[in-house]
Amino acid sequence: MPDAVPHVDTGEGLPTATIVLKPKRARPFFGRHPWVLDSAVLRVDGAPADGAVVDLATHDGQFVGRGLWNSTSRLRVRLYAFDAATKLDDALWQARIEAAVRLRRTLGLDDPAGAARLVNSEGDDLSGLIVDRYGDYLAVQVTALAMASRLDTICDTLQTLVAPRGILLRGAERGLAKLEGLHLADRLVRGSAPAGPIFVHEHGLRFGIDLAEGQKTGYYLDQRDNRHAAARYAQGRRVLDMFCYSGGFSVACAVAGRAASVLAVDSSAKAATLAKANADLNGAANVAVETADAFEKLDALLAAGERFGMVVLDPPKFARSRASLDDALRAYHRINRAALGLLEPGGILVTCSCSGSVSREDFLQMLAGVAQRGRRPIQLLECRGAAPDHPVSASCLEGEYLKCVIARVP
Ligand code: SAH
Repeated sequence: MPDAVPHVDTGEGLPTATIVLKPKRARPFFGRHPWVLDSAVLRVDGAPADGAVVDLATHDGQFVGRGLWNSTSRLRVRLYAFDAATKLDDALWQARIEAAVRLRRTLGLDDPAGAARLVNSEGDDLSGLIVDRYGDYLAVQVTALAMASRLDTICDTLQTLVAPRGILLRGAERGLAKLEGLHLADRLVRGSAPAGPIFVHEHGLRFGIDLAEGQKTGYYLDQRDNRHAAARYAQGRRVLDMFCYSGGFSVACAVAGRAASVLAVDSSAKAATLAKANADLNGAANVAVETADAFEKLDALLAAGERFGMVVLDPPKFARSRASLDDALRAYHRINRAALGLLEPGGILVTCSCSGSVSREDFLQMLAGVAQRGRRPIQLLECRGAAPDHPVSASCLEGEYLKCVIARVP
């Protein structure tokens, strides 16, 4: 599919139109929230092209912020500055990307053979842009038309700063891309593509990553430190890693954690193959991998009276929106209840949710419900989030999506 990104003159970085807010709708934006929904817009003064710079103003003419326009998206304006002096020009994008890359160095995530998220959208004041580094390669994911129309500047900047061997563009999730009116095909945008999987280091382990075909941008970097944390509880235990994808938790528990054995399960045969390969790569002979549906497998294990010393649950996003929250919470309840039934006394539950619309409080309430219905106490040991290369803007808590609770079940 050809890219359908409008050509906009991005040179000056000064507004071509003013978006006027309805009365009493400016507060979140004075609070630096970057998303202006269509429902907040009173009128558009001017005729901005999609991707063009616009100013946001109150109905009585007060400047609120400066952002980029998209008439196709419900998210009409993404704000990138909150003062009228800042131009949204190439120099600004370069400076923001540079600051983001510098932060990862500060975090100690600059091992050339390692992997890190270099740009995390709103968390780095670059709403709609995600950049992951896997060794010598970068995967760029653009989830906003605003960023798509500046892709050249972004890639040039990354090339200069990081000097990767290749930069691959990964399309946004299908639903999201449609909402933004974005049609970006996955493709190589700079340098050369790796011939096969890329191998990266993570806390002393090695993982093969399929950049072109893997889920997300190829790997779940957000769980890096949680895999490491979970491994600290694994020693001598029989571990069940449900929703294993490429086997991150399995390998961490088996090798770093010295688990007795690991059963890794994923419904995707491709994922199971990756998990097996990663177990082999790290010499973890005690990891068995199965392709199965988690709900069915959990029921089958319960029916067979199996017991584990540790259960890891890292399901995909169950809630796509607030509307599906109740269904999602029921699904979380169901798998966690099953996990409780599988845990031997003193067992460890590592339970995650990457649904942004399920709050931390909702998730903990769900666990309280599981303890009640399962008639077993749950001791919370660690309530964790994404690794620090996934910073969250305090003004846009929608970015705080990952919950990872490590608990003990006496
Ligand atoms: N724990 C992994 C990431 C898991 S992502 C890591 O650390 O890398 C969620 C995984 O759940 C995906 O691999 C997806 O294929 C799998 N999945 C989705 N629905 C499933 C189901 N019903 N049963 C089992 N696995 C499922």
